[in-house]
Amino acid sequence: MTAPPATRAAPFSATYRCGEGCDFTAPLTDVIYRCPRCQGLLEVEHDLAALRTRSATEWKALFDGRFRLGPWPYGSGVWGKKEWISPQLADANVVSMFEGGSPLLRVDRYARELGLDDVWVKECGVTHTGSFKDLGMTVLVSAVQEMRSRGRPIRAVACASTGDTSAALSAYCAAAGVPSVVLLPRGKISTAQLVQPIANGALVLELDTDFDGCMKVVQALSETPDIYLANSMNSLRIEGQKTASIEISQQLGWTVPDWVVIPGGNLGNASAVGKGFTMMKALGLIDRLPRLLVAQAEHANPLYQATTGAGLRAVPGVAVKPMTARRTLASAIQIGDPVSAGRALRSLQALDGLVEQASEQELADAAARADRAGLFTCPHTGVALAALEKLAGRGQIKKGERVVVISTAHGLKFSDFKVGYHDGTLPGLRSPLRNPAVRVEASLGAVQDAIAARHGRAARG
Ligand SMILES: *Cc1c(COP(=O)(O)O)cnc(C)c1O
Repeated sequence: MTAPPATRAAPFSATYRCGEGCDFTAPLTDVIYRCPRCQGLLEVEHDLAALRTRSATEWKALFDGRFRLGPWPYGSGVWGKKEWISPQLADANVVSMFEGGSPLLRVDRYARELGLDDVWVKECGVTHTGSFKDLGMTVLVSAVQEMRSRGRPIRAVACASTGDTSAALSAYCAAAGVPSVVLLPRGKISTAQLVQPIANGALVLELDTDFDGCMKVVQALSETPDIYLANSMNSLRIEGQKTASIEISQQLGWTVPDWVVIPGGNLGNASAVGKGFTMMKALGLIDRLPRLLVAQAEHANPLYQATTGAGLRAVPGVAVKPMTARRTLASAIQIGDPVSAGRALRSLQALDGLVEQASEQELADAAARADRAGLFTCPHTGVALAALEKLAGRGQIKKGERVVVISTAHGLKFSDFKVGYHDGTLPGLRSPLRNPAVRVEASLGAVQDAIAARHGRAARG
């Protein structure tokens, strides 16, 4: 085996630039989230000319040589692509939990039920804190370390969260020894998600409001530069999240699926998918883009309402109107006023995207159906799968097309949802695929009877 080419000392660079097109730039170590001229969100812009000094073949070899193996921190799925993420950051400031490198599974039994034959699930929830939020949080907390090492007085890092962001933030901050503060909508996140920041020592504040209400408070809180904002309006996180797309392509031998399906709430991740693929194409690692399907819960569907399922190319000038999100089992995407809507629309446009929605019944059944084929899906992944099922049912996604569904969290973080489904106690829902435990007497005969009831009698002989 030949060793991957050694890293050269940072000829590469990235800066903040106004995402709305103003001529504003700032270093990534500035405490800034919006363009001071137009209040638009900032994007991280890479010096593509510098990155082009390496060929696509060289980049692939470098990334493949590091994947899950490289010397610390390059074995991380995120830091193995450091030149494309945060090239100037000192290695000593990287706070990594070996995130990324998650499995990409082919799910043939599930695909057959949908009349498809090439469906994959990118298991982004198989990671340190059990959701794909680790991918972005490692970048953000590493940047905080770098700022603190240069003497910036950051007292704490704060976020509003529907659960997974707070879990990731508090874990990475605890690893780095940085104080964290998390604002959660009381009673609207799972028990497992709530206990994660508690265990990691964050200051956990439960607010009697919804996510959008928490978001308003945390934005006001972070107006003083000593409280650093960790929500996904902070573009550093998008840089890490985009590695999910790069890994998908890498794990498929640097090829491109026909479709990528992702659930959307605040819509930072839908935009990150676009960013990963467009960057790979710009640097010649791939020669085309996949189509993007963003899936929303019907109870929190401002993007769907703005597009009504039509392709983004068919609906120019879409404006996403804020709504009050209703309660959904997919609690991590119960968001009515998505902060990254503009960015997501640009990604949908670039990737010839579509938006679909899923009702509570549809998401619960899709999750259960996938579980019956061996997965263990969270409700948000259920939303993505339900959207896929609808497009497959309408023939918009066809047999022969390769589909990758991004699974965003580990099902074990949402055991209440699973238990409720199989007990048949989810309010207002049916459980057609329910498989409750059978209580039997502690005897051989009773167990044999139960097996016979499910699988028939044993053949005699
Ligand atoms: C955050 C999250 C999402 C949605 O990502 P956005 O960038 O907010 O659209 C989906 N699923 C899970 C499990 C999440 O934690």
